[in-house]
Amino acid sequence: MNRIILKRKREKSLLNRHPWVFSGAIAAVKGHPVTGETVAVTSAGGDFLAWGAYSPASQIRVRLWSFRKQEQIDEDFFLRRIRQADELRAAVIRPEQTNAYRLVNAESDGLPGLIVDRYDRLLVVQFLSAGSEFHRETIVRALRTLFPDYDLYERSDVDVRKKEGLPLRSGVLAGKEPADLLPVTENGLSFWVDVRQGHKTGFYLDQRDNRQIVRELSAGKTVLNAFSYSGGFGVYALAGGAERVTNVDVSRQALELAEKNLSRNGLDVSRSEQINGDVFRLLRDFREQKRRFDVIVLDPPKFIFSTKDLLKGSRGYQDINRMAFHLLNPGGTLVTFSCSGLMKRDLFQKIVADAAMEANRTGRIVRALQQAGDHPVALTFPEGFYLKGLQVYVD
Ligand code: SAH
Repeated sequence: MNRIILKRKREKSLLNRHPWVFSGAIAAVKGHPVTGETVAVTSAGGDFLAWGAYSPASQIRVRLWSFRKQEQIDEDFFLRRIRQADELRAAVIRPEQTNAYRLVNAESDGLPGLIVDRYDRLLVVQFLSAGSEFHRETIVRALRTLFPDYDLYERSDVDVRKKEGLPLRSGVLAGKEPADLLPVTENGLSFWVDVRQGHKTGFYLDQRDNRQIVRELSAGKTVLNAFSYSGGFGVYALAGGAERVTNVDVSRQALELAEKNLSRNGLDVSRSEQINGDVFRLLRDFREQKRRFDVIVLDPPKFIFSTKDLLKGSRGYQDINRMAFHLLNPGGTLVTFSCSGLMKRDLFQKIVADAAMEANRTGRIVRALQQAGDHPVALTFPEGFYLKGLQVYVD
């Protein structure tokens, strides 16, 4: 049997059930495991610690499947874990309101490197690690057993695959080719999703609860939805009775979709404006034009990919938040996010506080925001908390 032997005193994180083994913790590899193959991980003294998937190209050399010696990593294992993941969703998703959500959230659902997003009758799958790739056929079989009448589509065209030494790939896994645009329902609103070309698996499902919050504070307000993508927050704002919504994104296709999403919900598109441009620039232009808003949503893409980006990324967050504070009417609300996992909540809050100070505004946090419950975080995997946000009332 293939075995990974840890260096002395490096077993602690595994005893705490953290799902990763870094290359620096490994003393020896016994046997000749191929990429993604199941290995036993033992302490220096030879005690069994966990089963995991070997990934020779990655700094995260082993991603752990199970801490139980008796457990086999086979089709039943994947069936059990996916069923457990599904049970959690039944507790956090109301099916009559929402049919698009994350069904499997990788490490936090005990399935490192595996993402499965549900869009109505379609499952979009990402195999992001050597281990999930190694078991891809087994995983597809397990999904087909549990969701027999669903189509399956792969979107493993994500850069993190390169760190695992895997090629980018996408296409039909089972069933029929998805439509160009697929209609889904979220909190009773309707959205077109492009699962083949769209960002992530087609939609930013993690913002569902936060979009609902924006809906509730939008009545009669002018709303700036910066980094709008397909207009999620903008649709909710107009549905919540906003006076006017301004969506801004660099992607023209995203804005076309945003407009389609507004009309699909029977909303008055003439109360909206789609601006194709760079948010950093546009916020400055708005300030010069003395444009003001009652609500500003800032949901930028990930700025920080590794610790060396931390300073530059932090400046980026500070920059947009400062400019947003300049543009808010008194009594307005800033809803601001960071989806960079390496940006910790404390630091983010400090950056937003500094930004307000620089803009000479005062504000009060009325709510801390986070990813929706279908993106759970395993207690043993705090790294899973990547999306953080603040709802700030501005004086
Ligand atoms: N709030 C969205 C998700 C935003 S994702 C939702 O709820 O669906 C981030 C978006 O920012 C992407 O659509 C990307 O095209 C856009 N983007 C990235 N850099 C940008 C920039 N400098 N200016 C404007 N848009 C940008």
